[in-house]
Amino acid sequence: MTDMFCFQCQQTAGNKGCIKADACGKQPETANLQDELVYELICLAETTLAKGIRTKEADKLLIDG
Ligand code: SF4
Repeated sequence: MTDMFCFQCQQTAGNKGCIKADACGKQPETANLQDELVYELICLAETTLAKGIRTKEADKLLIDG
């Protein structure tokens, strides 16, 4: 997906979301990848908590992410 939509910071357009890549220079691909990263990190955190399998490796992945 290359359409721009980003609401990842406090300067998002109109407090709703940037739909043009020229707001801060972030490209749509970057915004999409960052959304995917956060989604996967949330899934990892929820899974480790739900299953009670929290590990140092999972913690490091979350911190690095
Ligand atoms: S495109 Fe840039 S300015 Fe707009 S919400 Fe995302 S990070 Fe913030």
